[in-house]
Amino acid sequence: MTITDQTKPVRIVVVDPDKCTGSTLCMAWARHSFEVGPDLKTLAINPFTDSEAAILRAIAECPRHAVSFADDRS
Ligand code: SF4
Repeated sequence: MTITDQTKPVRIVVVDPDKCTGSTLCMAWARHSFEVGPDLKTLAINPFTDSEAAILRAIAECPRHAVSFADDRS
């Protein structure tokens, strides 16, 4: 039997819908980790499949500072 640490955080990508304008610029840097939602704002796809470097670039390039990393402990 394998015992896993359920409390270990998992890094996820978060897009703040109150800040996102739906420009899709983030997809230019990490196109597999974002999608356009029904309200034409961008949604994060988790678990993300682009490299962390690509996500960090998307975070840096978002003109609205709407993208971030967060720890998911659920
Ligand atoms: S770059 Fe920022 S503002 Fe533009 S779609 Fe992505 S998260 Fe939204």
